[in-house]
Amino acid sequence: MNVRDSEAVAALLDAAGHVRATGEADAELVIVNSCTVRDMAERKAIGKCGNLTAAKEGRGRQTVATNVKIVGLMGCAVKRMGEQVFKVLPDLDFAVGPRRFGLIPHLVERCMKGESHILELPDDDEVPSGLDAHPDTARAGTSSMFQSYVTVLLGCDNRCSYCIVPDVRGHEYSRPAREIIAEVRALAEGGVKEVCLLGQSVLRYGMRNKAWNDDDPPSPGGYMEPFPRLLEGLQSIAGLERIRFTSAHPKGCTEELVRAYRTFPKVCRHLHLPVQSGSDKVLLEMGRHYTRAEYLDAVKRLHDFDPEFSVTSDVIVGYPGETESDFEQTRSLMEEASFDNAFVFKYSPRPGTRSALLPDDVPTAEKERRNQVLLADQEIRGQRRNERLVGSVRKVLVEGASIRNPRRWSGRDSGNRIVVFEPIGRILPGDIVDVRITDAHPQTLIGKIENT
Ligand code: SAH
Ligand code: SF4
Repeated sequence: MNVRDSEAVAALLDAAGHVRATGEADAELVIVNSCTVRDMAERKAIGKCGNLTAAKEGRGRQTVATNVKIVGLMGCAVKRMGEQVFKVLPDLDFAVGPRRFGLIPHLVERCMKGESHILELPDDDEVPSGLDAHPDTARAGTSSMFQSYVTVLLGCDNRCSYCIVPDVRGHEYSRPAREIIAEVRALAEGGVKEVCLLGQSVLRYGMRNKAWNDDDPPSPGGYMEPFPRLLEGLQSIAGLERIRFTSAHPKGCTEELVRAYRTFPKVCRHLHLPVQSGSDKVLLEMGRHYTRAEYLDAVKRLHDFDPEFSVTSDVIVGYPGETESDFEQTRSLMEEASFDNAFVFKYSPRPGTRSALLPDDVPTAEKERRNQVLLADQEIRGQRRNERLVGSVRKVLVEGASIRNPRRWSGRDSGNRIVVFEPIGRILPGDIVDVRITDAHPQTLIGKIENT
């Protein structure tokens, strides 16, 4: 989501006549986009910003930013810190919370005229203007020529006990379906083949505010839920080949969603479905609103439909009061759910959240141990899941030369698995090719192109 927002801001600055620097070394303006979901993420962003403001004042030692004149901070950490941000970063020129990023070109102009310490904080219900709505940002979510992020849902109303996101990103707001479909159509006309729809809890699309107007034509397939209906609307866009979305809450993994997966070939067979814990006790305390059994049912619906369906997840270890037995339940759930991949996070208390009032009582070394155990399990499981695909042919959207070995190229299959292969013929990034899998690693498949 932050990558998408950064790209949108860059596009707005392009439109305002600024020229992109080749890197930090020749930049006169640097804006740091911050995350506050975990303590470490926020520290990194603030630390980086501190180095840049020091360089601006001629005190920089650890930075290459020798030409920098204006430093801004955007994103969730700004909303969390409020006025305090200028106490921590006294030489910061401007700070902008989520949903006000559209103002950035204007703020830069004000700083160029000598203003400083400008703070823009959104209200929780604010609808962003000048960013998602701005015509120059229609291509702004484009991380490559053929892939693009598209924000469909802002904010979050779930209020999981540990999570600061609702405090900093505000209430849920679903962009109108019509606007999204028009944006994706424009992207596809410009050569984009794959979109990734973004939201904290994307399956809640259209639940808090109406995303479909009464005068929109009814769903031809009879879809009643707003998100599957959006997928139906996007499926028919010419030139678009793939539709992804993230992140999903298990409550939204309904029969209708599975019907959409079954019916719409462009919808990729991957779901990032964060579980957080396998213990009913911990899930209840987290306020996740599902049980272990309900979560496993959702995964079963996906695997019954397609055994190769890729399910990935987020897990937190060391939540307050998490016992060894709770942890073992997370461990066994990950095995039962056969995750293709998982991100494991060590719990960190976030100010203002419900769980921050509880003692953070799992020692750091124990959090680290649990983290390592789950990662080691996942390596074995990933290897086993991927080995089942050896011999099969995957449709791969080519992304380009592999970073590790430029003689090999890489791309992704429908399940978002990385596939590495030798480029043959006239293959270009953005092509979709058939690759027969010859070898498997825990997080990568190796194969040979079958046709060109
Ligand atoms: N909206 C997404 C999650 C966004 S935050 C969802 O619910 O699916 C990304 C991940 O960060 C979460 O899934 C969770 O695993 C982790 N996370 C959030 N708050 C955390 C905290 N206080 N400590 C550790 N990990 C946390
Ligand atoms: Fe945070 Fe829960 Fe919302 Fe995800 S669903 S952003 S974890 S409050």
